[in-house]
This record gives sequence, structure tokens and C-alpha cells, in this order.
Amino acid sequence: MKRVEKRILIKFSGEALAGEDGFGINTKVLKFLADEIKSVINEGFEVAIVIGGGNFIRGVSAAKDGIIKRTSGDYMGMLATVINAVAMQEALENDSLEVRVQSAIKMEEIAENFIVRRAIRHLEKGRVVIFAAGTGNPFFTTDTAGVLRASEIGASAIIKATKVDGIYDKDPKKYPDAKLLKEITYEEALKDNIKVMDDTAIALARENKLPIIVCNMFKQGNLLKILKNEKDAKYSIVK
Ligand code: UDP
Repeated sequence: MKRVEKRILIKFSGEALAGEDGFGINTKVLKFLADEIKSVINEGFEVAIVIGGGNFIRGVSAAKDGIIKRTSGDYMGMLATVINAVAMQEALENDSLEVRVQSAIKMEEIAENFIVRRAIRHLEKGRVVIFAAGTGNPFFTTDTAGVLRASEIGASAIIKATKVDGIYDKDPKKYPDAKLLKEITYEEALKDNIKVMDDTAIALARENKLPIIVCNMFKQGNLLKILKNEKDAKYSIVK
């Protein structure tokens, strides 16, 4: 797939939507994120989104005591991502954007089925496309789904939205002299102490030479600043 310069995929964790509550969906956070995305669309970027489901359930934790099987827990996690996708769609529409949700698991009353050509067409028309239900398979994460979809649609990068400015050489909460790393390789990102994404996601990004931009999506105007390559923009890139 040929890369399209102005096409990006943003990956949020489910927890990002929970705000201070730590669980469920906070509409103020949704509105903030929708406004940020709108500012990017207004600059002519094409935006696809993958949202996690960790604000409701994760397969590994659901299966911890052996009552729920891991695979069922994972399907529950994928369903959680659909709840988040529908919520994000509402917030974006409330901001007058056009949005389509495409699900990796058929749910025709709620979302379109995932069809890559159709997703690309939506993006070309300026619609935001939210990819829901992860990869549709247990044992994967939404980070991997993000890298997969970004590669499929020919995005120029995947933006891993976090609450920190990027990747540091050590934990900035513990060490005030921690340095923000501007650029690291996929091999470095696979090291235990960094872990920007799980190994499967990073390995897939490496295979497809998809840059991973780690940045703070919760500072107003920050995402646009990064995408416009402004001098003082803070982020880390894995490539
Ligand atoms: N999940 C899955 N396959 C996928 C994507 C997600 O089974 O392709 C399940 C898995 O149980 C995961 C949960 O959905 O824990 C929620 O996704 P994730 O943990 O990636 O969400 P986040 O941490 O980003 O909120």
C-alpha cells in the first residue's frame, strides 16, 4: 500500500476516555479529543482512529481467576472497543464531522463491516474512520490493531496518544533528569524498559516501516503542532 502523507491513524487507550473516573466514558474527555481531531481535519489531514477497551475490560484481567476463558475475555474486550467507538463517533458528529465506524466483528446494526477499500474512500472524502473490535481475533491488542489498520490504509504514521510527551531514557516520575528521546529504532523500542507498545505491534510496525509517534494528546493544540512539524513540538518517534 502506498503511503499517503496526510493520512494518519491515532491510537487511544480506552482508559484515556475514562478521564479522572478511571472507568467508563467521560463526555468532557470525548469532547476535548473530538475538538483536537477536528483541528487536524481542518488542516487537511485524513484521520483514522483505533480505541482500546481497557476502560471496561481486558481479556487477561477478565480471565485471571479461571472462571472466564481468555478467549471469551478477549471477545469481551473487543466488544468494549465498540462501545468506545460509538461514543467517539457521537462526539465527533457533535463537532459536525462526518464519521464512520467499521467493526472487525460483524455488527451491522451498529457499524459497517471492516472493508479496507471502503475505509480509504471515506478518508478521501474527509470522513473520520473509527476501526472498532480490534483485529477481530483474541490474543491481540488494540495497539496491534492500530498498526495493522494504519498499514492497511497506507497511513504515514501511527500516533500513539499518551499523557506524557514521549519516550524517556528513564522514568520521568522518578528521575527529574530523565531525557526525552527524540528518535529511537524499532529494536530499541522492543527493549523491556521502553515498551511503548506490545512486541507484536512494534514488530509489525518494523516489518511495514510504519513510524510510531508517541506524544501527549491531552495538551491542547499539541497534536496539530506535531503534525505541522513546528520547532518546539515535543514527541518521540520510533522508526
Ligand atoms: N482485544 C483482542 N483482540 C484485538 C484487540 C483487543 O482480543 O485485536 C481484547 C483484549 O482482551 C484487550 C481488550 O480487547 O485486552 C481491550 O484492548 P486493549 O487492552 O488493547 O485496550 P487499551 O489498553 O488500549 O485500552
